[in-house]
Amino acid sequence: MSALYRRVAFIGLGLIASSMAHAIRRAGLAESMTGTARSPETRKTAREMRLVDEVFETAAETVQGADLVVICAPVGAMEDIAREIAPHLAEGATVTDVGSVKQAVIAAVDPHLPAHVHFIPGHPLAGTEHSGPRSGFAELFHNRWCILTPLEGHDPAALDQLTSLWRGMGANVDLMDAPHHDLVLAVTSHTPHLIAYTMVGVADDLRRVTDSEVIKYSAAGFRDFTRIAASDPTMWRDVFLTNKEATLEILGRFTEELFALQRAIRRGDGAHLHAYFTRTRAIRRGIIEAGQDTDAPDFGRIKS
Ligand code: NAP
Repeated sequence: MSALYRRVAFIGLGLIASSMAHAIRRAGLAESMTGTARSPETRKTAREMRLVDEVFETAAETVQGADLVVICAPVGAMEDIAREIAPHLAEGATVTDVGSVKQAVIAAVDPHLPAHVHFIPGHPLAGTEHSGPRSGFAELFHNRWCILTPLEGHDPAALDQLTSLWRGMGANVDLMDAPHHDLVLAVTSHTPHLIAYTMVGVADDLRRVTDSEVIKYSAAGFRDFTRIAASDPTMWRDVFLTNKEATLEILGRFTEELFALQRAIRRGDGAHLHAYFTRTRAIRRGIIEAGQDTDAPDFGRIKS
């Protein structure tokens, strides 16, 4: 594929940025890439890895001459970053981000950007529980969705170009408005993470089950909670601080359903439990049919 951008600048060089850098380089989607991160250690690692062509000390230097700027830092850091880069952005550049919430990012970033750039917020629905520049890999976005939430009055050509970039990295692209994005993600990602954090916390508190038993028998379901609950604490703190309304709404529904299941268990209402689990099984089948997970037993961990 021919290059879509002359110079792509990454602010933040963790899992998402490093995966993008690998995917962009592999597919030849940019002529050059620059990057920066908060700590000297991450910048040093990125230089050693030759993750991008040039690593700078500051975000201001990193964005100079870039026709695409990707903010890949935690959501809570984005406002300061936008303020810092704003005076240094090239005329006609596109600014995007990969933050897990969209309304709060738009409120934090958009007011600081000059009128001569195109701001197109984005969120790739792909990740692992690992962080940092060494955790990225080119296939991360392959057959995953990337949601773009363009603002009113956006530039269609800039949106097309960014869409092509995500497609070039193997992703499917959907457009949504930011409030809907935040609600969808509260259901599919944010609340499930909170539940996983809680379950792992409960197991840790429950002194009648020893730590070694929890670890030994974790394949019975708990292991998948622990993987999710190992996700980056900064990122997830920011998600709940910034997607408050939608998460609270879904959590409210969740606790109601949980109470209904609790009552069914107490009353021995097997029909309720069976009907509920039949419905949820069908949802799992839908996910597999949509190619978003493997049908292999135990998520493919069992080698046949
Ligand atoms: P990560 O691996 O922890 O990387 C975050 C990067 O941001 C690090 O390089 C960090 O620098 C840098 N950073 C933090 N504050 C900064 C600042 N003020 N200025 C410049 N750089 C700064 O995180 P990630 O998983 O790539 O997540 C990045 C973004 O992607 C987040 O907004 C998250 O919501 C979103 N996202 C994550 C996932 C996921 O599953 N992980 C999925 C989709 C979207 P240091 O290393 O020096 O601290």
